[in-house]
Amino acid sequence: MADPQGFLHTFKQEARKRPVSERVQDWREVYEPQSAGERAREVSEQASRCMDCGIPFCHSGSSGCPLGNLIPEWNDLVRRGRWDAAAERLHATNNFPEVTGRVCPAPCETACVLSLADTHTTGSVTIKRIEQAIADIAWEKGEVGPVLPALSTGKQVAVVGSGPAGLAAAQQLTRAGHEVTVYERDDRLGGLLRYGIPAFKLEKSVLDQRLSQMRVEGTRFVTEVEVGVELPVSSLMSRFDAVVLATGALRARDNRDVVGRDLDGVHLAMDHLVASNHECEGDGPSPITARGKHVVIIGGGDTGADCLGTAHRQGALSVTQLDYNPALPVERDEASMPWPAWPMILRTSPAHAEGGVRRYEVAVQRFLGDAEGHVRSMILAEVRLGRDEAGRRQIVPVGEEIELPCDLALFAIGFEGTETGPLLDGLGLETNRRGTLSCGSDWQTATPGVFVCGDAHRGASLVVWAIAEGRSAARGVDEYLTGSSELPASVHPT
Ligand code: FAD
Repeated sequence: MADPQGFLHTFKQEARKRPVSERVQDWREVYEPQSAGERAREVSEQASRCMDCGIPFCHSGSSGCPLGNLIPEWNDLVRRGRWDAAAERLHATNNFPEVTGRVCPAPCETACVLSLADTHTTGSVTIKRIEQAIADIAWEKGEVGPVLPALSTGKQVAVVGSGPAGLAAAQQLTRAGHEVTVYERDDRLGGLLRYGIPAFKLEKSVLDQRLSQMRVEGTRFVTEVEVGVELPVSSLMSRFDAVVLATGALRARDNRDVVGRDLDGVHLAMDHLVASNHECEGDGPSPITARGKHVVIIGGGDTGADCLGTAHRQGALSVTQLDYNPALPVERDEASMPWPAWPMILRTSPAHAEGGVRRYEVAVQRFLGDAEGHVRSMILAEVRLGRDEAGRRQIVPVGEEIELPCDLALFAIGFEGTETGPLLDGLGLETNRRGTLSCGSDWQTATPGVFVCGDAHRGASLVVWAIAEGRSAARGVDEYLTGSSELPASVHPT
């Protein structure tokens, strides 16, 4: 049983971050490394704060963990030092806890009953930190071995895309006895875990160790093949009994209409992040670097925050992040906006503590360039959010225009859905009004035998949702191939 009073005598203690001056000099994760003993002691103390409240907001429902992680169970096991049993419980619902333990914004912590309380000893259980420790300790002790399938169905499954959704689906289906091949058009596996999320949030060795496990289990990987192009849809459909589309929602929103958008030095944020991640993988210097530049990031969200941290590590002269939304009171005073509103709109990350300026209620009007066609500044206008006569949201310029020095501008203004082209055309599929692929309750698209999961289905979302959808879609595929399935499904298509 959990200690129902643990939270009354143990303070909440987040993982400590390395000093800013140190961490911006390298690409390693921002958190301080700890000795194994210190980590185990601190984390088991933190786990003792979980009171197993009997109201499972943290691990279910619309606000908690979409994976249905058995959080009170593994908190109690950690409290009692049963790390191996905790790892078993954690892996029962999550294929990649070492990843979510690092990058998840932790809706479970937002949903934790203790996050409602307001004494100085309280605040949510540090679930994400505990999750990471359980997973890391299991890997360090060599306890995360391959889970080999007990039978072979002889069925062939293709998974298109190697992001967290594709990998989760592939691992589940391999373990269920199917022959699974993951196709990835990039040169390395991992989707946005590899080339979107910077290494200071997720070191790539964490991903590589999991991929090694999957290879031993029997999942096959083919990189540098774009399905629909190098592997035509006709071959795909004749070679495989089922296909899982896990192609992400990588169509980045752009603003081509802004005057000066075509100047050198004006890029999409993803071009910057992908190039930087290639450099970190040892592929040579990034062609889009912030070194010695005044950098302006257009967009106040998470992708923008990743550009911010990347620009500082590349040696930017200055970094400004723009947002047309007003500054949230939460940035000044979290207590002024009660749960559940504030965690959902809190837009800060460790990168914001590393420097840079945030400007709110501003929008780009145009870019100005030099004689060589390189961007040198941008003109901003102060704006307010309003509505037009039809009630549509409008960004209305007010006040003076402002000129801002800018040698590198990065558009981080969101994503418009999954990419269209030969793959979807060949499969006879069209995107819906959200730019994603619709499916039935079994995750099957309108084309029989073709399933979808992750951002390709949900739109740009979170790693934890991609894993949850990949696992759940695997059950749909397994049922389709064999008539029944024992694979778990924690979420249902939206
Ligand atoms: P993806 O990870 O996008 O993978 C799709 C893969 O499919 C890609 O590798 C692509 O190359 C491949 N592909 C596409 N078409 C084809 C084809 N025809 N043939 C072969 N391969 C193909 N979420 C968090 O929870 N925490 C974070 O900190 C976080 N940070 C983020 C930072 C950035 C910059 C971005 C952009 C997103 C971030 N996210 C974060 C969101 C998260 O990364 C995504 O929700 C998640 O990766 C989606 O997984 P997925 O498997 O659906 O797609």
